[in-house]
Amino acid sequence: MKHKKTYKLYPKNIINESDPTSFSGDFLNNHLHPGYFKEGLASIDPEVHQALIEEEQRQQDGIELIASENIVSRATLEALGKAIINKTVEGYPGARYYGGAQHADRIEILAIERAKQLFKCCYANVQPHSGSQANLAVFMAFLKPGETVLSMDLSAGGHLSHGAKANLTGKWFRIVHYGVSKLDGLIQMEQVRDLALTHQPKLIICGGSAYPRTIDFAGFRKIADECGAILLADMAHFAGLVAGGVHPNPLPHAHVATATTYKNLRGVRGGLILSDEPNLERKLNSAVFPGVQGSVILNAVAAKAVCLGEALRSEFREYASQVLANARSLAFSLINNGIDVVTGGTDTPLLLVDLRKLQLTGKQASEVLEVSGLICNKNTIPGDAQSPKITSGLRFGVSAGTTRGFQEQEFSQIGKWIAEMLHALSSGDDLAPLTRTIHAKVKEMTNAFPIYEKITNHSDPSL
Ligand SMILES: *Cc1c(COP(=O)(O)O)cnc(C)c1O
Repeated sequence: MKHKKTYKLYPKNIINESDPTSFSGDFLNNHLHPGYFKEGLASIDPEVHQALIEEEQRQQDGIELIASENIVSRATLEALGKAIINKTVEGYPGARYYGGAQHADRIEILAIERAKQLFKCCYANVQPHSGSQANLAVFMAFLKPGETVLSMDLSAGGHLSHGAKANLTGKWFRIVHYGVSKLDGLIQMEQVRDLALTHQPKLIICGGSAYPRTIDFAGFRKIADECGAILLADMAHFAGLVAGGVHPNPLPHAHVATATTYKNLRGVRGGLILSDEPNLERKLNSAVFPGVQGSVILNAVAAKAVCLGEALRSEFREYASQVLANARSLAFSLINNGIDVVTGGTDTPLLLVDLRKLQLTGKQASEVLEVSGLICNKNTIPGDAQSPKITSGLRFGVSAGTTRGFQEQEFSQIGKWIAEMLHALSSGDDLAPLTRTIHAKVKEMTNAFPIYEKITNHSDPSL
């Protein structure tokens, strides 16, 4: 029996023509297929296994410059693959709706205590399934539908979950956006204040997905106090730098901070909510559950505990300083090689390149770089005339490369390769020889910095 209809949407080359149900063998008759509790993925589901192995190889072979990515520890991978995934709990440690929660409670308490210690605050919620869910819970805690929110425009470096038109937050709340200066790419605090005083928002959000500079958290708080708003600092992209002590902590200036654990914090995919205001605990907890989520993804919470534990170690402070040094090295190298960098540099793990002078789009540039093994994303830049699908910019992040061991000299070299490719693309040269040369050098560099050796050999049955 073929399920052609189901697969119609996918490109032909990723479809296996065999019957998609065939792997289960006599599943229906015997209730459990042979090896259900014993055998690993490679023998039970070779198709999925193969794709996963090839993805590991892709990560090994490319230079990952996407700012929202990182490379988690072996310990994190192991926590994610444990049987606590079978446990369902709702509520919070000590106040669950189901029995058998003693180990779940231990793990969640560990994660909460580590988050509080790391970010020097009195409240943490480790349940949000993602950064967007964490932000949605903050909306749920403080706003009624239709109330006003002041946040950074998506095209200036904000985030979908801060009230973008297509997002629930943009459809159900009244959103006012501040931008950044077209001249220097920086937030204009006078503009933020004017908008806040005019529109009297209930919630003000700072922090974005493509803003490379330190935000004036104290200045934002002053404005929030002037109009009686709650201040949310979304530190998705720089939480690791805050944890490592090389970036200002938005707490206690912000009433609430949200973060993702999988970007610069170098852990599992998921979100956090933090606050140093003791009286917000009930509001925030009930906004997460039962407000916007149901049961807890406990293996993710276990992996968050691991990530936060790792971030408390002294090695993580060195990682954070290296991230900052590497981001600056990449920015410096690009600028030195004739590429425009928005704001002229960075204070975070990410930076934005302005391609307008080269008359290139982010779309074409990112596609060409990927062929050489340099993986990044197109991004709108301040005052961009192109659509978000095309853009006039590129966003680069150094968190993943730093994890695999790259230092300033590697990032300086990467900057040169990027600049060479962009100049060649801009002047209409034949790209093929240059692409081949750079791809070979990228391969040499990635070979020198291996990741997950043993997992690729799948010698560990727990994985
Ligand atoms: C990445 C990011 C998030 C979270 O995104 P998810 O994909 O939902 O985890 C939230 N806010 C900002 C500013 C981000 O950059």
